[in-house]
Amino acid sequence: MSLFGKQKTRTRFAPSPTGYLHIGGLRTALYEYIFAKQNQGTFVLRIEDTDQTREVEGAVGGLLKALKWAGLEADEGILLGNDGKVAEKGNFGPYTQSKRLKIYQKYAQELVNKGQAYYCFCTPARLEELKANQQTAGQLTHYDRECLKLTPDEIKGKLDNGERHVIRFQIPEGQEIKFQDEVKGEIKFNTTDIDDQIILKSDGFPTYHLASVVDDYSMKINYVIRGEEWLSSTPKHILLYQAFGWAVPQFAHLPLLLNSDKSKLSKRQGDVAVEDYRDHGYLPEALVNFVALLGWNPGTEKEIFSLAELIKVFDIKKVHKSGAVFNQEKLNWFNSEYLKKLNPGEFQKMARPYLEKNIKQVSPDLNLDKFFAIEQQRISRLSEVGEDLKFIFAADLNYQAEGLIWKKSAKATILKNLKSLIVELQKYDKPDWRAETLEKNIRDFIASNNLLNGEVLWPMRFALTGEEKSPTPFEVAEILGPEKTIKRLKEAIEKLK
Ligand code: GLU
Repeated sequence: MSLFGKQKTRTRFAPSPTGYLHIGGLRTALYEYIFAKQNQGTFVLRIEDTDQTREVEGAVGGLLKALKWAGLEADEGILLGNDGKVAEKGNFGPYTQSKRLKIYQKYAQELVNKGQAYYCFCTPARLEELKANQQTAGQLTHYDRECLKLTPDEIKGKLDNGERHVIRFQIPEGQEIKFQDEVKGEIKFNTTDIDDQIILKSDGFPTYHLASVVDDYSMKINYVIRGEEWLSSTPKHILLYQAFGWAVPQFAHLPLLLNSDKSKLSKRQGDVAVEDYRDHGYLPEALVNFVALLGWNPGTEKEIFSLAELIKVFDIKKVHKSGAVFNQEKLNWFNSEYLKKLNPGEFQKMARPYLEKNIKQVSPDLNLDKFFAIEQQRISRLSEVGEDLKFIFAADLNYQAEGLIWKKSAKATILKNLKSLIVELQKYDKPDWRAETLEKNIRDFIASNNLLNGEVLWPMRFALTGEEKSPTPFEVAEILGPEKTIKRLKEAIEKLK
């Protein structure tokens, strides 16, 4: 049993509104969501907007939409209301840090009163100089505690004078901070390596450390899951919990996400925003499934998991310690699997807008049901729909007539075969114009006339597509319909003559 006894599990996702939901953030939110559900707990969403210089207009709404799209809506905190607007729910609010400044100021003051934090009036110029001198002397840069020497009267004088100041947390010297991370195991830090942290800035805003600790405490969060990049902040947080006399939550730090060259996953090497994946036509279920397996696996061969299944089998204790490579091809594989599982109607509905974007004019006489059925088996994201089959929609195909000739065949044979193929096709009834029936009939026609498959099917396929590679001539003919098929065969004859 944890320090918290029977207290309900409360996890939180605490994004900063910097413009998009990072794929690593999606994994953090997913694990927090799953962990909360596994323990009949509560998944809280808090907005960490104390760094106002990084804030992007509309980012909170965007974050919430991306999370909702992924199926990871919070139970409490900041969420999307029924009207689609940003709303707040819960008893521990406000859940947006910029609305909690007074709370942080009160707690920072409490630490000053207890002698565990102090006012610092050093100017940026002095701090710069200090840093430069330490660097020249080959020392680790750190604050030299100049302001800790001030007497209470001096401090009062400066405050009364309205001098610019921050509040620094006084890190106790020579202590070992030890904690058991759920993922990384035992972690140790020595306080000698930690600088006296600013907890309250001169503009009255808290820094991340103070805000995070105060909020996790006030919002009764007892399970903190976050990326490994925050691991070095954790000893500072633990010291703050101790200074306040609060119970320390359980921490779980997730391994970094890496590019295939093992560098940290970055925007430069591809998309990192969930919104980009959504817009390219990845399905939320596929992205969630893929992300769940970045740094964790169930220990079996099974790879396809719904969110409900993940809630059953996921184990935070089995998350790997070392970085997880983000393999785009694997994601594409997951997405194509999920696309194949859609029913054809659903697929069409989702793919249609992408088709309209990729193809200027979609002629109504095409058999689009067949077109979409082929694409559903072929593409790995919806944005690819129609990309490789542009010839279907083209008014004219631009190809070299030689392309129609199969291997070393004679031009005259190909011409003759194309002509008799047209005569043959003209015999077929409309209901027979389906790939399977076309294939059967055309193969019979080839056999009964002692023709060579290659000398009929190659020129047919090439005449219909103008491409070296494509779906079968029967499938293409089904999509094109009888008139367009015969028209393209006639055009081929004209080109070849
Ligand atoms: N606001 C931090 C972020 O944007 C969250 C850090 C934490 O989870 O403690 O990633």
